Amino acid sequence: MISNVNYKAAGNTEQVNTSPAAAGEVNAIEMLSVEKVYPNGTRALRPVDLKIKEGEFVTLLGPSGCGKSTLLKMIAGLEDTSDGRLLLWKKPVDQIEETGHSLSFVFQEASLMPWHSVRKNVSMALELDNIPSKEAKPRIDKALKLVGLDRFADALPRELSGGMQMRVSIARGLVVNPDLLLMDEPFGALDEITRFRLDSDLLDLWRDNGLTVVFVTHSIHEAVFLSQRVIVMAARPGRVVADIKIDEPFPRKSEFRMTQRFSEYAMQLHEYLMDAAAEEDQF
Ligand code: ADP
Repeated sequence: MISNVNYKAAGNTEQVNTSPAAAGEVNAIEMLSVEKVYPNGTRALRPVDLKIKEGEFVTLLGPSGCGKSTLLKMIAGLEDTSDGRLLLWKKPVDQIEETGHSLSFVFQEASLMPWHSVRKNVSMALELDNIPSKEAKPRIDKALKLVGLDRFADALPRELSGGMQMRVSIARGLVVNPDLLLMDEPFGALDEITRFRLDSDLLDLWRDNGLTVVFVTHSIHEAVFLSQRVIVMAARPGRVVADIKIDEPFPRKSEFRMTQRFSEYAMQLHEYLMDAAAEEDQF
């Protein structure tokens, strides 16, 4: 399901290779000591400090339960913060419209309406915003073309593969022209080959459309392939443990996955995850 949501230093965080924002670069997301305790007392996240620049592709990587989804939902305004300050383009999340920017959230499940065509599923995101159909049509056509589904506009979801259904979900996110795309393990349920293809297509979409992307995954390899920066997280309690720059040029071809450098990045992330797991429950 896609929704177009208009709307103190983490003690254990290790900063590695992060490039400070150069003069003139705009922070799309700023978190200052953002933490989350759910009403039932679960402490999902220790204080997080994080800045994400406009146009960056950043991945949140960590095991189940480390607070990745919670962090992403707080950025989307779908969950309240318990403490700290979270700003999108210098405004609180519920005032994003005032900044002239918008965001979309892509969930793990495509969650399409089975009785509606691909086109109708995508158009529903615009109907929520009361966009007139004359204006909506070219936007839907463009979004479907971007995800390579223009020939399937009249198909029903059951006629599509899992990967194609997820493309519809991404089109539904893109049709609202978001500046910020938040993706919660969008390819987690797909086979590896489809996932690789969608990873590559997502990088093209990101670069061609000047998006800022925050992408959640528990796959080390997916994180290395996609990201400019990987935020490594750990569980019990949920926390950020490292901020790693993946200093590789784009476009990244699938051959990148076979290189020594790719393996070195993967090993580095693996070690952070292992070290953090060894510390679990010591807080
Ligand atoms: P991840 O996305 O990394 O798997 P989550 O953000 O889903 O982690 O969850 C982090 C922690 O918060 C987990 O312990 C989870 O059980 C708990 N949690 C998530 N959502 C809720 C909720 N609505 N109420 C209470 N606890 C929650």
